[in-house]
Amino acid sequence: MEQILFSGVSAVTMDEDVPVRPDSFVLVSDGKIVSVSDAPPPDFTGETIDGRGKVLMPGLINCHTHIPMTILRGYADDYDLQTWLTKYIFPVEAKLDGRCVRAGALLGIAEAIASGTTSFTDMYYFCDDILAAVEETGIKANISRGTSLFTEDFSFDSHEGCVDMRRLHREWHGRDFGRIRIEASIHAEYTSNPRLWAAVGEYAADNGLGMHVHLSETRKEHEGCVAKYGATPAAILDRYGVWNTRAVAAHCVWVTEPDMDLLAERGVNVSHNPVSNLKLASGIAPVPALLAKGINVALGTDSVASNNSHDLFEEIKTAALIHKGASGNPRAVSALDALRLATVNGARAQGRAGECGRIAPGLDADLILLDFDRPHLVPCHNVLSNLVYSARGSDVVLTMVRGRILYRDGAFTTIDLGKVRRELDEYVLPRLFG
Ligand SMILES: [Zn+2]
Repeated sequence: MEQILFSGVSAVTMDEDVPVRPDSFVLVSDGKIVSVSDAPPPDFTGETIDGRGKVLMPGLINCHTHIPMTILRGYADDYDLQTWLTKYIFPVEAKLDGRCVRAGALLGIAEAIASGTTSFTDMYYFCDDILAAVEETGIKANISRGTSLFTEDFSFDSHEGCVDMRRLHREWHGRDFGRIRIEASIHAEYTSNPRLWAAVGEYAADNGLGMHVHLSETRKEHEGCVAKYGATPAAILDRYGVWNTRAVAAHCVWVTEPDMDLLAERGVNVSHNPVSNLKLASGIAPVPALLAKGINVALGTDSVASNNSHDLFEEIKTAALIHKGASGNPRAVSALDALRLATVNGARAQGRAGECGRIAPGLDADLILLDFDRPHLVPCHNVLSNLVYSARGSDVVLTMVRGRILYRDGAFTTIDLGKVRRELDEYVLPRLFG
């Protein structure tokens, strides 16, 4: 049984009563957290990692991304969502193949692991190639095949996205003792119609699969739906059973007060993606109001094409800041609230609350270690404040998932980054951008 002991570390447990425990000893055995104590366990013979000057916390959880789009980083900036999608993103995506997707996924996963992410929720296509990258790198993921439908003609048995979803469910769901999960997905209200919503919603509910949807991201989308159906996206999707299972609604920038009540009632999780929403000028999601309604709000980066980073520490800081500025209330989203979005709430949104998101005995050892001896983290009056307002993804010196070290001191244990770079330079970038 492989054992690792973090000694003398500041442990950010995310426990409700004592979220930070200084000078702690965190024992990991066989992929699980065994104990968090004030003294080293007796007769310990495994590997000891010196945690003095370091902070150990639950791995971060990214609840909304499209990881292969990492290859589009910096390709089209400073456009609104519709222009950005239709003039720049869709034409390049039309040239994608599985090989490009796999390389993009490996690059995105490398970036995620190196900046402290241990689990992510993704919506895209060529999912087998994403899943192969997830499987070999050791990260956790909830993967969904985004579906869309632009015609009245629809058959659940032959619709390409639905066929894909069912096959992925059969072949991949629960792989590696649940490290990999498949979810259902409807890309968005404005890219589909009720036939698809009813069929995918029913399949997800019947099979206990999660659901992943873009919701009320832009004003145009939100108001267009009201004009077309006389109902908001949240309400019309509800009418067709889309929220009859654990669901993640990404963005929710333009949701109304009744929408929020509905999402709360149906237990829908919201993925807040503040950097992407700011960059595409979509607006600011009403996160303090969502939290006040008791809605579980998690955090996501959205794709790197609209972010342009997978560093969740940027997202945490932005989430803590923009709601203060927008509301005039410096306590609108506190440092602890912001950290919860990326840990405890993320785990809940992924259906993994009993598995990760905190440091507690019995949970998976999905942990990250940050070097707090760096100039921008000194002095440290408050660990939570430094994590939210001063830390960066590059302060992460170790990332482990289920006790397996995936990244340590700048080196990956499961990713050959040089090989990924060569694949990008020799195949992917020439194919997509000529
Ligand atoms: Zn998205």
